[in-house]
Amino acid sequence: MRVELIQYTPEPEKVVASAAKLCYSPVGVSEIMEKLEDESAEKFIRILMKMGHMSPVEHVSFTFGIEGISRVCTHQLVRHRIASYSQQSQRYVKTDDFNYIVPPAISENPKALAIFEEAMENSRNAYKRISGLLYDSYAEGAEEITKRQMGAMEKKAIEDARFVFPNACETKIVVTMNARTLIHFFEQRCCNRAQWEIHGVADEMLKCVKRVAPTIFEKSGPACIKGPCPEGSMSCGMMDEVRLKYENMV
Ligand SMILES: Cc1cc2nc3c(=O)[nH]c(=O)nc-3n(C[C@H](O)[C@H](O)[C@H](O)COP(=O)(O)OP(=O)(O)OC[C@H]3O[C@@H](n4cnc5c(N)ncnc54)[C@H](O)[C@@H]3O)c2cc1C
Repeated sequence: MRVELIQYTPEPEKVVASAAKLCYSPVGVSEIMEKLEDESAEKFIRILMKMGHMSPVEHVSFTFGIEGISRVCTHQLVRHRIASYSQQSQRYVKTDDFNYIVPPAISENPKALAIFEEAMENSRNAYKRISGLLYDSYAEGAEEITKRQMGAMEKKAIEDARFVFPNACETKIVVTMNARTLIHFFEQRCCNRAQWEIHGVADEMLKCVKRVAPTIFEKSGPACIKGPCPEGSMSCGMMDEVRLKYENMV
C-alpha cells in the first residue's frame, strides 16, 4: 500500500491555535496570527485538546493519495462520513487484468492461496467474456460505428461486467479529512480491533500528519492511548504494547 500526504492547510498548528485564541480575544485573527509564537501555539493546542474544545481543530484539513489497497478497505474507509473522497471508477476505467490484494493470512497458506488465485483468475476471465459479449450485443446490426459510439458501448458493457469483480480488487482513492475527523478515525482504525488493512492505512496516515502537525496529533492513535479500552470484552488486552507503539510513533 502507498499512503501519501499530498496537501494540507499551511501552518496547521498556527491556524488551530489562532482560531481558538480568537474565542477569548478582543483583537482580530490577523493580529493574533502575526503575534503567535510556535511555542505558545503548541501550549495552547495542548490546553484545547485536554479540555476537549475541538471545533478549532476542524479548520485544518489533510489530503491523502492512497493506492494499492482493496475495495474491502475503501468500503470501510468511506464509512467515515465527515470527509471527502474521490475513487478510481470501475465504471469508466476498463480493468481486464485488475490487480488484487492478498490478505497476509491467505498468502501464508499455500492451499488457501491457490484457491484465492484461481478465484481471481476466474473473475478476470468472466469480466473479459461478459464485457465482450455485452459490447457485441450493443454493436450488433450497426453498419458504421463512430469512435464516440464505441466508447459509449464499451462503457455500457464494463459498467455491468464489473459486477463480477471481487472485494480484493486493488483501488486508488483521494481522501480529505479535517484534523477532528482524523483524530476520531485514528481512535477507531488504529485499534487492534480494526482489520489489518485499514489499520495499516490509518497508521501510515497518522505518521504523515504527525510530521506536519506534531502537537495536534501528539496523543492520536487508538482510544486506549488516552484512557481505558472502550472495547469491553472484545478488548485485545494489549494496552501496554499499543500505548508504547503510538507514543514512539514518528
Ligand atoms: C472495529 C470496527 C467494526 C465495525 N463493524 C461494523 C459492522 O459490522 N457493520 C457496520 O455497518 N459498520 C461497522 N463498523 C463501522 C462503524 O459502525 C462506523 O460506521 C464507522 O466506524 C464510522 O464511524 P463514525 O460514524 O463514528 O464516523 P463518521 O461517519 O466520520 O462520523 C463522525 C461522528 O460524527 C457524528 N455523526 C456522523 N453522522 C451522524 C449522524 N447521521 N447522526 C448522528 N451523528 C452523526 C457521530 O458522532 C460520529 O461518531 C465498524 C467499525 C469498526 C472500527
